Amino acid sequence: MQIDNHLKDQVHRLPKVELHRHLEGCVSAELLLEIARDYQIKLPTRDLEELRSHVQIRGQAAGLVEFLDKFFWIGMAFPTLEAVEYVSYCVCRDCARDNIRVLELRFSPVFMTLESPHSWEELLHAVLKGARRAENEFDIDVGFIVGISRSNGIKPALRAVNIAADYSGLGVVGVDLFGDEAAFPPELFVTAFQVARENGLNITVHAGEGGGETNIRVAVEELGAQRIGHGVRIVNDPEMMDWLKERGVPLEICLTSNVQTRTVPDLPSHPVRRLYDYGIGISLNTDDPAISDTTFSRELLLAMEYFDFSLEEIKGLMLAALDQSFLEPYRKKPARERLERDLAAFK
Ligand SMILES: [Zn+2]
Repeated sequence: MQIDNHLKDQVHRLPKVELHRHLEGCVSAELLLEIARDYQIKLPTRDLEELRSHVQIRGQAAGLVEFLDKFFWIGMAFPTLEAVEYVSYCVCRDCARDNIRVLELRFSPVFMTLESPHSWEELLHAVLKGARRAENEFDIDVGFIVGISRSNGIKPALRAVNIAADYSGLGVVGVDLFGDEAAFPPELFVTAFQVARENGLNITVHAGEGGGETNIRVAVEELGAQRIGHGVRIVNDPEMMDWLKERGVPLEICLTSNVQTRTVPDLPSHPVRRLYDYGIGISLNTDDPAISDTTFSRELLLAMEYFDFSLEEIKGLMLAALDQSFLEPYRKKPARERLERDLAAFK
């Protein structure tokens, strides 16, 4: 499909729903520099352009691990609780400015406290406070997902599940497993996710991205994943595609991220259209937009340009994403009714 300025404007104005976005991956070089100046933090450079090369992928990364390396300096963006609250506010505000109306934002308590002395309770309080401020100022509803890093091991995983349970109903809607999938397969985390299910937490798991498609099956059957982050390697196994479709477990698709992590060789070979046409539930997402130098609107335009998604199909995907979202029913139902009405009237 040809992308012109009229379509760009339409996609920007379209009320949107995004489910797979990491808060830490939204810290831009500009925001990091601003925080470094305010809090006298040492960075490799104070030059904005040079800093970009430390925190942003240029072209294609060598793989998931190189992509994850870009997070090193981003860890400096959370020196105080005030800074945490500010980053959370800025991220939600910028999403609202891209007309994202319902957002699920995930973050790792381990990562965000690496360079600071705060407790996880203080951290969650600050993250939620920043988002609430954005919700009061802009037209956006935010649900948080507590991220569990595979490489941190079993104990922090259990701790993350427990704090997510403590804040469930206060803005936290679920848990996620992320990180180096090849080195730390999902079966290591069965106990932590059992506790998550016992506490009524929603579950999404990064699987079939940096590791094989069998991780998708383990994530669903043994961890209880209701959604899969990426999961694009499922196209290697037609039987598993049927299996996933039957179970109605949707995939959170992130186009640019998949190209940059070399999950797919290039954008045209991404299986998004094939998965969609096959009837597997999908949502479109940014993953780490600051690292990938993208926006949600841009990702939707890529889907239209490279995979011929029509505006009507994109509208359908926004409604589907809301149906797939982990927002509590009291927030989800009115948001769904309003989105349906607004999309029907959208020109
Ligand atoms: Zn992700």
